[in-house]
Amino acid sequence: MALLTKSKYMNGLQCHRLLWFSDRKQLPEITLSDEHKFGQGHEFEVYVKKLYPTGIDLDGMDFKENLDKTKELIEYRKIIFEAGFMIANLFVRADLMIPLGDGWDLYEIKSTTQLKPQHIPDLAFQKYVLEKCGLKVNKCFVIFLNKEFVKNGEINPKDLIIQEEVTEKVNLVDDIENNIKKFLEIMSQEQTPDVCISMQCNKPYECPLKKECWSTLPENNVLQLTNWKVYWKLLEEGVKDLKDIPKGTKLTAKDQIIIEAIKDNKPVISKEHIKHFLNSLHYPLYHFDFETFDTAVPIFDNSRPYQKMPFQYSLHIEQKDGSVEHREFLSDGGDPRPALLEQMKKDLEGTGDIIVFNKSFEISVMKRLAEDFPEHKEWLQHAIERIVDLANPFRALYYYNKSQKGSYSIKKVLPAITGKSYDELEIGNGGDASMMYFYSHIQQKMENKGQIRENLLKYCCLDTEGMVWIIHQLVKIVN
Ligand code: SF4
Repeated sequence: MALLTKSKYMNGLQCHRLLWFSDRKQLPEITLSDEHKFGQGHEFEVYVKKLYPTGIDLDGMDFKENLDKTKELIEYRKIIFEAGFMIANLFVRADLMIPLGDGWDLYEIKSTTQLKPQHIPDLAFQKYVLEKCGLKVNKCFVIFLNKEFVKNGEINPKDLIIQEEVTEKVNLVDDIENNIKKFLEIMSQEQTPDVCISMQCNKPYECPLKKECWSTLPENNVLQLTNWKVYWKLLEEGVKDLKDIPKGTKLTAKDQIIIEAIKDNKPVISKEHIKHFLNSLHYPLYHFDFETFDTAVPIFDNSRPYQKMPFQYSLHIEQKDGSVEHREFLSDGGDPRPALLEQMKKDLEGTGDIIVFNKSFEISVMKRLAEDFPEHKEWLQHAIERIVDLANPFRALYYYNKSQKGSYSIKKVLPAITGKSYDELEIGNGGDASMMYFYSHIQQKMENKGQIRENLLKYCCLDTEGMVWIIHQLVKIVN
């Protein structure tokens, strides 16, 4: 008998097709980054469990054992973690239940730093199943991370955890029965549900089937436009290909450039604007890029939940005469920040522009470093003032190649403008770099640390060397 579980119910709310595939266990294999997310959730739960030391944890028990043990503990009115409930073909595991009076308070543990809209139907479904099983549910709560928490020595769970009562919101949910009926029907049908690509593909979570579903879109599709209000509407109306956009559709100047590049089959270039950008640069240019990792529960003192911890940087210093020097830093484990700051201070010494790609990330990391290490505040502030964003001319579409597919990320711009790419590298994106570093250097769960270090250095080096090449190419284009 197929069971409608809490996670399938949530999948059904996002998309019927996602529900159908998840019920058949036909979702793509989970990635290292998904595993990391689950792992972070578990780390957080450890601290919640410390708050309730008399709670009995049923995690790890098999299905039947969990149901039997839950019945027993409900009888004895114990605090329970991971209590399992089944009625007809509905099944839930409640993160935490606390007996109170003749009923129970129900808690959902989320390793987020705020209450999110999707937490409410999640709890409403659990409450529904519990009540069908004959329990009285008094109040509903969401437990999440306190984003203001700063680690200082041993973590006191009370400081790390926030709980918010959401009973009223949960009680307002009135579509559970209809949803259950619909979802069970979908699960039992032979045919894959036909669903249109929509905003739901990213909301509330990025759908694991996105790669498969979105691969059916035409090569030049409306999702490459910059104005999402326009492109989702077009998609809803069945317009997928950029060439099919109805005449009279209001498009922004940027969207017109994207269409022009496809129509003319050549990059659209605004030489005057690019020249202006290049003329504004102050040499030597310090091409700079950080790599970071983050964890739900902070590991190091003086850090917060999900704080971006810089563990690596690459720097190419380019003089006006074209000579280039490469410098880099890669931590060997532990809190990377003190050693990184010492070396960064020396490496960035000077007055030329610091070139980054998408400055908000680098600036936010530097600001946080300045806050956490006030002895470095002065030079970091000066460094922030020197930052120039190389993404700007691409964000403004002063150069646009149709191969960028509507994106101005360096992963798309570099191949588009220089013909070079990240394809040959073992580590080809920031997410993988972060995971590889975390599991080899912080958790020490990977054996090939030496090889991973080499791959990390190659990857980060290409990010900043790529910026040198991009500027060279822009110079060529305007001359
Ligand atoms: S990618 Fe979108 S359409 Fe495809 S299953 Fe996921 S949510 Fe549904």
